[in-house]
Amino acid sequence: MRGLLPFYRGLYTLSNRQASRKAGIVGSRCGLCGTQSNSKPQPRFGLLFDIDGVLVRGRMPIPAATKAFEKLVDSQGRFVVPVVFVTNAGNCLRQTKADQLSHILGVPITQDQVIMSHSPLRMFKKFHDKCVLVSGQGPVLEIAKNVGFKNVISIDMLRESYPLLDMVDHNRRPKLPSNPVVNLPKIEAVVLFGEPIRWETNLQLIVDVLLTNGNLSSSHQTQNTPHLHLVLTYLSSTVSFCSRFGHGTFLVCLENIYKKITGKDLKYEALMGKPSELTYHFAEYLIRSQAMQRQWELPVTSLYAIGDNLMTDIYGANLYNRYLEERVARKNPKAVAKMVSATGSTTAVPREEEIDSLWESELALPSATSCKSVLVCTGVYNPNAEVPSDANHCIKETVFHGHRDFIFDPGLVEPGHIVQDVAEAVDLIFEQEKFVPQ
Ligand SMILES: [Mg+2]
Repeated sequence: MRGLLPFYRGLYTLSNRQASRKAGIVGSRCGLCGTQSNSKPQPRFGLLFDIDGVLVRGRMPIPAATKAFEKLVDSQGRFVVPVVFVTNAGNCLRQTKADQLSHILGVPITQDQVIMSHSPLRMFKKFHDKCVLVSGQGPVLEIAKNVGFKNVISIDMLRESYPLLDMVDHNRRPKLPSNPVVNLPKIEAVVLFGEPIRWETNLQLIVDVLLTNGNLSSSHQTQNTPHLHLVLTYLSSTVSFCSRFGHGTFLVCLENIYKKITGKDLKYEALMGKPSELTYHFAEYLIRSQAMQRQWELPVTSLYAIGDNLMTDIYGANLYNRYLEERVARKNPKAVAKMVSATGSTTAVPREEEIDSLWESELALPSATSCKSVLVCTGVYNPNAEVPSDANHCIKETVFHGHRDFIFDPGLVEPGHIVQDVAEAVDLIFEQEKFVPQ
């Protein structure tokens, strides 16, 4: 990430120019669109806020956040536009995060406005009745039950039932010979919530579960293909901010151990958390739900994602925007014809079956047609990093620290807009949408 900053600085100037240009031409579509509900303006847009580095730093609010949220609620404390908070944190319940945000921002926030990295698991109903092993730290059993799982096993429960499997820490080995206490059902899926505390224990037991197909009483089978379901809820970079180890590093260990033993790649049933599309799709669904609850009649068509991290917030918003644009293009024969004539091939046009997917069937189709990214300078992004003489050269030499299953696309880290802080972001969006709250 640090190595990418010079490249991003180059984007800063470019994007500022683009932002100014875009601001100058907006006006053809209005956030109010002449629609009124209870004599109040009806927004046609929704906001997705990252939390850390945008609204808070640690537990301290960023001053601009209070200013921004004064504009986002009416005199009765109700939001004047649909708002969701999208964080990659996964070690607490949505209600806990909503309570923290209410306290910090001074406005009432419900858990239905919060998306943690694990929140989209609610859509995975096919797993909810299966016996799942959860890995992470914090109240993982409670989190899993809260998102719908009924039959959950923790690593600690597994370790207690099979005390001889976790041998790295000599002090934790059983003092006396002991037999497994086999009272656990067969595990049918593993859910990775975030980095655990005792890495060696989790790595050992997860690999054991994968190689025994969920039954630790049986022997390892390195030819199991495919292995049992594995769901990843936190797509962290290999190293996180300030080069600290986190879930991304844990995954590198897990994926490489599995490959070393079996010769095969670990395969994930689903990836969620920013920058995955699934998380943004869930955010769009929550925004749509808020608009319906408020009986705002016209669909929300524009989303704005405000964040401080190019690799998660900006990349994710732009990736989802690409998906939305492809949906629009697929439904527009003229756009499809243009795409075919530009590329000379029909393969550039996404097919129906490529876009139909699990979350669409669970959440119904999105009403949004765009998701614009807005980068703030109050968090990890450093607008003062030096500009390289050749940005393209710089990016090619940089090691990509994203997850194994994400291919780095430089086009997706270009923010739609760059602003100083979240208050400026809200002002810019209101101006773009010609929205005047009353
Ligand atoms: Mg952040």
